[in-house]
Amino acid sequence: MSKNDYEIVMGLEVHAELSTKTKIFCSCPTEFGGEPNTHCCPICMAMPGTLPVLNEKVVEYAVKAGLATNCEIARNSKNDRKNYFYPDLPKAYQISQYDMPLCEHGNVEIQNENGEKTVIGITRIHIEEDAGKLNHNEFGAGSLVDLNRAGVPLIEIVSEPDLRSAYEVEQYLRKIKSILEYIEVSDCKMQEGSLRADVNVSVRKKGETKFGTRTEMKNMNSFRSIVRAIEYESQRQIDLIEDGGIVEQETLRWDDISGRTFSMRDKEDAQDYRYFPDPDLVTIRLSEEYIENIKNNLPELPESRRKRYIEEYKLSEHDANLLTGSKYLSDLFEEATNKCNNAKMVSNWILSDISRILNEKEIEPDQIPFTAEELAETIKLIEKGTISSAIAKKVVEELFKDPKDPNEIIKEKGWIQISDEGVIKEVVLKVLDNNSQSVADYKAGKDKALGFLVGQAMKETKGKANPQMLNKMFIEEIKKR
Ligand code: ADP
Ligand code: ZN
Ligand code: MG
Repeated sequence: MSKNDYEIVMGLEVHAELSTKTKIFCSCPTEFGGEPNTHCCPICMAMPGTLPVLNEKVVEYAVKAGLATNCEIARNSKNDRKNYFYPDLPKAYQISQYDMPLCEHGNVEIQNENGEKTVIGITRIHIEEDAGKLNHNEFGAGSLVDLNRAGVPLIEIVSEPDLRSAYEVEQYLRKIKSILEYIEVSDCKMQEGSLRADVNVSVRKKGETKFGTRTEMKNMNSFRSIVRAIEYESQRQIDLIEDGGIVEQETLRWDDISGRTFSMRDKEDAQDYRYFPDPDLVTIRLSEEYIENIKNNLPELPESRRKRYIEEYKLSEHDANLLTGSKYLSDLFEEATNKCNNAKMVSNWILSDISRILNEKEIEPDQIPFTAEELAETIKLIEKGTISSAIAKKVVEELFKDPKDPNEIIKEKGWIQISDEGVIKEVVLKVLDNNSQSVADYKAGKDKALGFLVGQAMKETKGKANPQMLNKMFIEEIKKR
């Protein structure tokens, strides 16, 4: 049997660091980075005798995430201790939630590769604390622990095993990311580990109703690696089964460099976490009113922004979809449009050149280094005829490299568009003199020859000549010949 005879089944456990100012059980800052062990106190360092106090904002953010993903919100829930030893977890247990999570039975809708809408179930969303970090000494002289991240609040969003392809997984994760960004509960910076996913993969023969045994790839934090890892791991499982083997349930580590998965631990030493209710923390009781209030104050979600873009800015459904797929792109679009009042052009620049550069650089919209103001200013320069679109492309490239006022950029680079009739004429005459064949071609009805001549003039002026003026001048001057 071949790959096509198998179905891939996947479920994701997404961890998102919440952007509360302080940690989940103490008042240390959650800020990323900082000198090692400067964002901690006796509580998050697990000194004996200290007591955790739940940060109310964490509950609020998790409820927001639950409501935005159509979950039921528990009126009663609690925190549990998940016992395991790891050097970056000095308490030797993680405070999480076991059998009474804050949110359950949700779903999000995605579009699959055939353009069909598919509903992906969300099993639960619970709150928990992040662990610290081990810095492995590159000289092999031991490892150093940094507890700045210990106690940073997380939500874990567990999906049903409803995902059927790497494409769907990517769409699902993008959807979750965009929802969390819209409701502003996490900055979702994957490169900083604020959003990471455990990807569970199994395969089964098509038509089979029972799921196969899954493996789990931990802590994936880039879309590209997730897609590659799924492709590799599903094929590995298929090959194994085809060879008469069986898939073992195990935890794997994806190695981006070799493009392979490696075993971290197998089922033999699967942890029994010995969960039990944390006796230091009280039951979390939420009133109807509290939940209603959060529901009524949820910010605008992608779906409603999409509709508004179509109505208010007359964008196509396709463009509105792409823009609202990312809160950062969508915010960039709105802010730039407010400043230059040309929604169509802003949308075009974001979806063409800016998106292309993001792809080439393999970076996400939140890593765009320039401001909406700088984009709006570039568009105003095109509108005023100060620069051509060809130059604007170069300005945008420059904004990615060294963002600053586009007026400065074009002044420094000498990229101001040539709209001086005398200069344009001079160039046109020179190009005509040097390309008599094209002139003859054009006269013989080959319209393409004009494009070639304009191109030559552009080359001559390093892309700075006003293209409309060139066109007009060429036609006029050819008539005279
Ligand atoms: P654990 O914490 O042991 O990993 P969870 O129940 O928290 O278990 O998470 C299991 C994840 O694995 C869920 O996202 C679920 O959808 C997914 N999953 C469960 N069974 C399978 C399977 N057979 N194939 C693929 N994914 C699965
Ligand atoms: Zn602390
Ligand atoms: Mg898991």
